[in-house]
Amino acid sequence: MQSLTLNSYAKLNLVLDVLGQRPDGFHELRTIFERIDLHDTIILKRTSGPIRIVCDHPHVPLGPRNLAYQVAQRLQKDFDIPEGVTITIEKRIPVTAGLAGGSSNAASVLQGLNRLWGLGLTSKKLRDYAWAVGSDVAFFLYDTSYALGEGRGEQIKVLAFKTKLWHVLVTPQVKIYTRDVFRRLNLKLTKKKDNVNILLPFLRGNNLYSIGSSLSNDLEPAILSLKPHWGRLLKEKLFDAGAVGVCFSGSGPSVFALAESQKHALSLRARFDRRFSQVFVVSTY
Ligand code: ATP
Repeated sequence: MQSLTLNSYAKLNLVLDVLGQRPDGFHELRTIFERIDLHDTIILKRTSGPIRIVCDHPHVPLGPRNLAYQVAQRLQKDFDIPEGVTITIEKRIPVTAGLAGGSSNAASVLQGLNRLWGLGLTSKKLRDYAWAVGSDVAFFLYDTSYALGEGRGEQIKVLAFKTKLWHVLVTPQVKIYTRDVFRRLNLKLTKKKDNVNILLPFLRGNNLYSIGSSLSNDLEPAILSLKPHWGRLLKEKLFDAGAVGVCFSGSGPSVFALAESQKHALSLRARFDRRFSQVFVVSTY
C-alpha cells in the first residue's frame, strides 16, 4: 500500500464538568464527547523523503508543532522507519475552535500509519501514543458516536447510544486559546453538579428536550470573561431563533445549538450572517 485516505472527524462536548486541578497542573474533567460528521480529509503518501505536512489553511502549522507531524515523527523514530510520509490535510474543521481538529488529525495519522507502515500496534499501544500527543486524541481512536471522557479527557468509556442529533454549529472569527480559558477558570464558581449523570439517561433514551436543557460547560464563564459581548449575544440569538439547547464546545469559541431535525437546523442556519462566523449544519456521526 502506497497511500491511504482517511476522514478525520470533529467533536462536540455535550457536557464538560471541571472537577478540580490535578497535581500535574492539568484539570480533572468529566465530559461527554459527541463525534460529528464535519471532517477533514487526510491523505498519507509513503515517500523516500522527510515527513512533510501539506495544508493550505493559514493557521495550521506545517512543522513539528502540528500534532499529525508529531505522531509521524514518534512512530518513525520508535520503529526505525527508513522512509518518510507526506501528510496532506484538507481542512474543513475550524482551527482553535474547541472542536479538536488537530487532535482528530493526530488520531487519524496514528491509525493510518499503523496500517501503511505495518506496525501492528495494539489498541493499548495506540492509546499510549495518543496520550503522549494530547488529551483529546484518544477519543478519536474509538469507532463510536459518543463517549465519556475522564481524567484530562483521555480516559475513554464508549457509550453505545444510537441517538442521532442535529445541530447548527457557529464558529465566530474570534480566537480563544485553551490555556487562557483554563487560566481564567475560577473553580469556586463551577456548579459542582454531576452534569454527566444528568445527561446520560436522556441521551440514551433520545429524549431531545431533556438533552437540550442538560447541555452544560463549566468553562463558559471563563470563555465569556475573555470575550464578554459576542458569546452571550450568540447564545441568546440561537435560543431566540428556537434552538432546543445551546452550549459552547470545549474551550470555545464554537457554540452549537441542538435542533429538532435537519430541517430545523437548516432554518436556524439561515438566520446567521456568515460574514462574521462559519456556520454549519452537522449531525452525530
Ligand atoms: P485544543 O482545545 O486542543 O487547543 P481546538 O479544538 O481548540 O484544540 P485545534 O484546531 O485542534 O483546536 O487547534 C489547536 C492548536 O493546535 C492550533 O493553535 C493549531 O495551530 C495547532 N495545531 C496543531 N496541529 C494541528 C492540526 N493538524 N490541525 C489544526 N491545528 C493544529
